[in-house]
Amino acid sequence: MSEAVIIDGKGLAQELREELGHRVTELRAQVGRPPALTVILVGEDPASQVYVRNKERACEKAGIRGEVLRLPASTSAGEIHREILRINEDPSVDGLLVQLPVPDGIDPAALREWIDPAKDVDGLHPRNVGLLASGMPGLVPCTPLGCLRMLRHHHVATAGARAVVLGRSLIVGRPMAALLSAKGVDATVTLAHSRSRDLAAICRQADILVAAAGVPQLVQPDWVRRGATVLDVGIHRVDDPTHPKGARLVGDVDPGVREVAGYLSPVPGGVGPMTIAMLLENTVTAFCRREGLEAGGES
Ligand code: NAP
Repeated sequence: MSEAVIIDGKGLAQELREELGHRVTELRAQVGRPPALTVILVGEDPASQVYVRNKERACEKAGIRGEVLRLPASTSAGEIHREILRINEDPSVDGLLVQLPVPDGIDPAALREWIDPAKDVDGLHPRNVGLLASGMPGLVPCTPLGCLRMLRHHHVATAGARAVVLGRSLIVGRPMAALLSAKGVDATVTLAHSRSRDLAAICRQADILVAAAGVPQLVQPDWVRRGATVLDVGIHRVDDPTHPKGARLVGDVDPGVREVAGYLSPVPGGVGPMTIAMLLENTVTAFCRREGLEAGGES
């Protein structure tokens, strides 16, 4: 039996970022300023520092003005609120996000509501959540948007397909289920979570399986139908003394799934790079809408 086709998220993201770079050059000439993204980083979480630096670099390469507002962990919710309102009002900024997690004592739900929905490039404001649920154009969370793009790129048939999404978070699982069941995508979606009974049997039904449970190597080969498409959203750093860095990244999917699946997105090099590409795309979409231009893209 043949092994799964590996979905090269890194390569696809690179292609999309280059295309976006050309579009940004045109837009900048047309409007007289580049699209701009501000990321608010509160505290010193090491993983967040890396993510934010990657976002900054990606913006720079695409010609997007990327700015990071670094605030100490001791910053109060009131101060963060004031900064968000200030950036909401700044006409030269198109996209705004607060890097998660935020320090204890700050309610992420409140943060989501403070951001202007038109600048909400993470797609987490209740207005954008509602627009997606209603099948109307808004800003869609980057990770599920990237997953959909991977399916499209490989011409994976979604209409009438059975899709199973493992995980019901606001940032991955729920919007993924909404996108897959949207008109035009037309999958029949099951949204599973930690209280779902007999996950293996549910997953075995899937033509398309999106694993976003946040549990290392949860999805076993015998959970997957032969030939199914499996997108692995999970990212986990596990100790590995044999690895040059002493640790390596694994996903929510066991490596043995490669023997069974038709298509498989790897970790690393799969969904992760697509998420950053979609963040850039959402920033350009927000810019175009704010400037009254044709947005293009998926959102
Ligand atoms: P999350 O907020 O922790 O949500 C996890 C979801 O999975 C919850 O709905 C939870 O169910 C469910 N779950 C937990 N254990 C389960 C189990 N044993 N069986 C079935 N469902 C289970 O996580 P998230 O933010 O969505 O992230 C999920 C994973 O994706 C993490 O590894 C994260 O690092 C990764 N991630 C990657 C990217 C990327 O760009 N590649 C982006 C975002 C997240 P309950 O609701 O019942 O608790």
